[in-house]
Amino acid sequence: MDRLVPRMRQHAASIFGEMSVLATQMGAINLGQGFPDTDGPQILKDAAIAAIVDGRGNQYPPVHGLPLLREAVSTHQQRFYALSIDPDTDVVIGTGASEIIAAALLAFVDTDDEVIIFEPWFDVYDAGISLARGRRVAVPLLPPTFRPDVDALRAAVTPRTKVLLINSPHNPTGTVFTIEELQTIADIAIEHNLIVISDEAYEHLWYTGHPHIPISTLPGMFERTVTIGSGGKCFSFTGWKVGWASGPRELIAAVRVVRQHLSFVSGGPLQWAIAAGLDLPNSYFADFRADLESKRDILTSGLREVGLEVVPSQGTYFVMTDVRSLGFDDGMQFCREAAERARVVAIPVAALCADPQIGRTYVRWAFCKQPSVLREATAQLATAFA
Ligand code: GLN
Repeated sequence: MDRLVPRMRQHAASIFGEMSVLATQMGAINLGQGFPDTDGPQILKDAAIAAIVDGRGNQYPPVHGLPLLREAVSTHQQRFYALSIDPDTDVVIGTGASEIIAAALLAFVDTDDEVIIFEPWFDVYDAGISLARGRRVAVPLLPPTFRPDVDALRAAVTPRTKVLLINSPHNPTGTVFTIEELQTIADIAIEHNLIVISDEAYEHLWYTGHPHIPISTLPGMFERTVTIGSGGKCFSFTGWKVGWASGPRELIAAVRVVRQHLSFVSGGPLQWAIAAGLDLPNSYFADFRADLESKRDILTSGLREVGLEVVPSQGTYFVMTDVRSLGFDDGMQFCREAAERARVVAIPVAALCADPQIGRTYVRWAFCKQPSVLREATAQLATAFA
């Protein structure tokens, strides 16, 4: 690691990749890394294949994204959120939500600028802030309910704060921010003239009673918010890596400048397929959500039967448990033992936090798996920890 720039050394390992390697080594069921074990709609595969065969997208697509896909993102934002987006200027397509997040941070954050994120966080936020030479300022989602600590957020803003990076539905907690929480966050952003990067990769994975609300729909927020979407998460093709951002043209223009110098373009034929996905009827999105909600319920009740205390999940692919209910004090230790004794892999939330008090005793489980796999996993856990 001597040759790696010091600011990136702390990001040398990805807990998601590490735990997937462990799952493979142990022959364990992998409820760690969040990816579905069944592919998305056949119609998208057919659209990708047809694009390749027809020679659409096999050479570089337009730098800021296929016009048809930018149009589809615009129509999607109008259909679900009544947001008016100009596909020519207000959308950019990238290599997954992750690249767009990195590009946005590099576009808006200069040396020592502060970026506020909630913790626990998704790891690319922390690494992206380091890439930009910014400073991470973490504000807790408070256990045991993991709601945003808005007083701590207000107190965390300084004259150096440039960006507020939020994520709802939230990975890893499964928290979906309420309208009141979003309004308080919006008030703070407006008062201090902050740019908001809103990672809404899981926008269609919110469960009964917890609707997803884009912060850009709140008064005064569209003009300061870059909203991130994910084709992988919307359509269960996480390997395709097609993501997008939408927002006001001034902010999107800045993201476009940086992003074009990262991957330039990617996924040409897949952009045609994701455009077809965004045009699917409302019933697709409702059925998708219902399917994941039923999987959430299967894993939640299975984990409870094992004796684990569950933090109820309102959205995403994930549900967390407090391992103290099984007599453990350390989620990392629990994850090691679960892999060895139960042959089931989960993610220790401590790896996604700076403050050990927040994540130490929690682990994250992915429920975007077939019901039989979820049942098998909890049966193995029940036997191992009986
Ligand atoms: N978003 C997924 C997760 O949180 C995958 C992350 C990754 O592997 N980089 O598990």
